[in-house]
Amino acid sequence: MLRLIFFGPPGAGKGTQAERVAKDRRIAHISTGDMLRAELRGATPLGLAAKAYMDRGELVPDDVIIGMVKERIAKPDCQNGYLFDGFPRTVAQADALLAITPIDRVINIDVPFERLVARISGRRMCDSCGAAYHVSTYDKGDCRCGGQLYHRDDDRPETVENRLRVYEQSTAPLVAYFADKGLLATVNGDARINEVEAEIAGILPA
Ligand code: ADP
Ligand code: ZN
Repeated sequence: MLRLIFFGPPGAGKGTQAERVAKDRRIAHISTGDMLRAELRGATPLGLAAKAYMDRGELVPDDVIIGMVKERIAKPDCQNGYLFDGFPRTVAQADALLAITPIDRVINIDVPFERLVARISGRRMCDSCGAAYHVSTYDKGDCRCGGQLYHRDDDRPETVENRLRVYEQSTAPLVAYFADKGLLATVNGDARINEVEAEIAGILPA
């Protein structure tokens, strides 16, 4: 059983790294952002309620997110363990999570703030599998899975600034929170994808 949190600001590369580790360790990849986007595509009540917050770059209310995660980790594919990507984002979410499951390690992906805007504005997402690409390294219109790449509405500059502000205010305090609990391991996210992957592999429990 392996339970991890991938932590970092928007654009840090959490999703990319989380996907690799989840595949490698055969644990569930739980991205609350991907889950919300799936709800949106399905036009569910939850998705429609979340949309206004996401479009503004605000956080979706804690009780919605916590309910969604509780349901998710009860699913059979979580039996080997799981890895959270984009969750928790507030102290209330972290408290709620630790009340229902222990966490083995928090991987904090550190990227200089001034790099994030460029990373996010060049990001393209697959509408089918949720994979992320950057226009500087991949300039095709479709994903390897055959899905279409699109520019997320909330990846546009006006919203990105607010997301970074919200991160600083509501999410960054979790660095000290997890460090206090002895769970935090920080890696340099300002490196090539494979280099970051190797650094993470070096600090994961066996
Ligand atoms: P990024 O990490 O690039 O900001 P995500 O896909 O993780 O993107 O999140 C997109 C949006 O979904 C957030 O801006 C927020 O509105 C919502 N969201 C995702 N996860 C959470 C969460 N744990 N708590 C509150 N809102 C969330
Ligand atoms: Zn795809």
